[in-house]
Formats: sequence, structure tokens, C-alpha cells
Amino acid sequence: MQYFNKERETMSADERFVLQSEKLVKTVKYVYERQKPYREKMDAMKLKPSDIKSIKDLYKLPFTLKSDLRGNYPFGMMAADRKDLVRLHASSATTGKLTVAGYTQKDLDVWAECAARSLVMAGADENSIVHVAYGYGLFTGGLGMHYGAEKLGAIAVPVSAGNTQRQLQLLTDFGADIICCTPSYVIYLIEEMEKAGLKPGKDIKLKGGCFGAEAWTEEMRSEIERRLGIRACDIYGLSEIAGPGVACDCEYKTGMHFQDDHYYPEIVDTETLEPLPYGEHGELVITTLDKEGMPLLRYRTRDIASLDNTPCPCGRTTVKLKKITGRSDDMLIIRGVNVFPSQIESVLLKNPSVQPHYHINVDRVNNLDTLEILVELSPEAFSDKVADVEAIRSKLAAEMASGISVSAKITLVSPGTIERSEGKAKRITDLRKK
Ligand SMILES: [Zn+2]
Repeated sequence: MQYFNKERETMSADERFVLQSEKLVKTVKYVYERQKPYREKMDAMKLKPSDIKSIKDLYKLPFTLKSDLRGNYPFGMMAADRKDLVRLHASSATTGKLTVAGYTQKDLDVWAECAARSLVMAGADENSIVHVAYGYGLFTGGLGMHYGAEKLGAIAVPVSAGNTQRQLQLLTDFGADIICCTPSYVIYLIEEMEKAGLKPGKDIKLKGGCFGAEAWTEEMRSEIERRLGIRACDIYGLSEIAGPGVACDCEYKTGMHFQDDHYYPEIVDTETLEPLPYGEHGELVITTLDKEGMPLLRYRTRDIASLDNTPCPCGRTTVKLKKITGRSDDMLIIRGVNVFPSQIESVLLKNPSVQPHYHINVDRVNNLDTLEILVELSPEAFSDKVADVEAIRSKLAAEMASGISVSAKITLVSPGTIERSEGKAKRITDLRKK
């Protein structure tokens, strides 16, 4: 078994507890001294840094919300002195201000280490060529995997997103064995490869990939693995904490190994905010254990997931993050029923007559929510015979109704008609918000 940092990735539960506790105690002192918003929150709760003695005291600490970051825009949450900050990243918000995060050189080194651990899980080593097709910029995807590849001693190819024909040329000419991008973009690349007659294993030498920045399903994973003949790993990150590499799948795909010697995860009930036991679904909350630029205590990510502490055959001993079901912000409430886009994707991909290209339209007509799902027919199922298409449509409508517990209008469209995405896919139009 290959590891990037065997000592850290396979340490015993006791060693991990001691390390996490020492780091948390230090972090709480540091944030109290250096981040006014935390000092004010803790003073209001009559909580002193000395009240935090181990990771078991984590629940005493205040939560941090995205609104805390926006309220202190742009630099009010920074803990490090300006001379020690070396990079800023930011994520776009649906409304208003960006969420900004500042990193010191040590923060970037830790992040690169976590990205390198992830690349090894996807099958990379120091001889690898890593094709980075995430966007480079304020978004963390491109630079995150880039520095991870270099930390590993592999060769990073900073292609960035877009220009699909050039991506195919570079994949063929350089023979990259590892690719990093969004799951929706790799599906698009696969489609273009197939059109160009490029064969996986022959013209395309990819063996593995880290795919993230979007919630995606097991069905989508199988589709990517089958069509590209690779190991497709789910990778998790968020710019407020660190970009990709906070957690990643190993080859056993038992859940994403969470790099909890640096970032500590909890799952809390979305309503009561009480911590939930392993296995239960709720909101993912993360505390940074050694960040200097902008440490965060109990940051509410809005991502819905669960944690698993059962052993993994790979020997890594971190807690595992089970696949993200979706962002609580993305959850659709249709006629009172909660529906995650990932549930819709899951139903669609089980049906071989359609392809993983879809769009969800939500509207309200006569005070009643309407849900329409546009999905592409596969080239094999595409037919001029109305009766054939109608049979596929009614079968899919029945599968959808039982899969998401609410009826949806299914609209089948010709192959290639739904817009392809080069970054994060935009799959929902909710006209009720207008
Ligand atoms: Zn594992």
C-alpha cells in the first residue's frame, strides 16, 4: 500500500486524539488572541481558552457561519500579520460579497501535503503526470491540485479549465496518468474522446482521477470508471478551510479519508445543531487544527453528509466522510418534499436509455410547485419512433416518482443538446425565486 505520509495517515486512535487535542488547545489560544470576532463570541459565552483541554471540549466552542466571514469582509477574520500572509482565495457567493480566505506559507504547505496524500490515493506517484483541468484562479481547484502534484514530486500540467480540444491533445501527447477536474467536466471530456475515436488504455493513458467541487453520485462514479477505465476518486475541499484535499477516497472507496490531523470534522443536526454520532446524516462542521492565516472554529459548511469511523482495508486510520448528499442550499423543496439534485442524478444514471446530461427546472404554477427534468437520450436509445421514446419516458417517470417521492415531468431531448460545463455544472433553474 502506498501512502504519502504513512506516519500521519496510519497513526493509532490514541496518537490521533493526543495530536488533535494539542493542536486544538493551541488553536483556541491563538484565535482568542488574534481574531476579534472569536474573542467577542467567547467572552459573550464566558468561555476562556483554558476551558478547552482536549478535542472532547470542541462542542463548547462557538460555531462560525458564512455570514461571519461576509460580515468581516475582506480581512476582518485574518489572524496572521499581513507580512505573513502569502495568498488569498475567494469563493463566489450567490448573493453579495465573496467569502475570502488568507493563507500563510505554512497553510499552503499543509494544503499541498493533503492534496498530495489525495493524489496518492488516486494512484499517483513521483513518476506521474497530473493533468490539472480545474480552473486556476481565486477558485482553489487548479492551484490546490497543482501544488499537491509538485509536493508529491510528480509533474503538474497546468491546463486549467476549457478548450476541450487542446485538453484531448495534451492528454494524448503527454500521456498523463492522473486527471483532476469536476465530475461533470470529465464526462464531457469522455464524450469528446469517444467522438474523436480516442481509446482509453491506448491513446489515453489515464489510470486515476480526483473529481470534486460538485456533489456527484455513485452512479456517476461507475459511469466515469467504466467509460474511461480509471479509478475515480471523490475529493473534497472548500476555500474557507483549504481547497481540494481536505478529504479524498482511497482505492477502496469506503468514504473519503478526512485529513483530521489538520482539519477536524463533526456532523451536527441541521436544526438543533447538536453533534450527531457516526453514521447519522447532518451538516458537516469543520475546525481547522493548525491554520495560521484564517483559522476557523466549527465552521458550518452547509454540506449534508455523515462520518464513518470503521477501519478501511487501506490501513489509513482517519475518520471517513461519506459522499456529500448535497448542499443544504441546493436542496429543493417540491410540494413539501425535500429533494436533493443528487437523488435525481442517481435515478437517471440507473436507466441505460439516458445519458448523464440533465437539467432541472422548478417553477410554481397556480400555487403548485412543478418539477421538470430534461435529460438526454443515449445515442443508442435515440429514435424517430414516438412510441419507443414514450415508453422510455413513462418508465423513467415511474422510476423518478419512486426514487424522489414526488412526481416530475420528464422531458427527453436529443443527444448533445444540453449545455456542457467546463467547470461546475449549473443544473438547476428555480423560477420560484424570482
Ligand atoms: Zn482507505
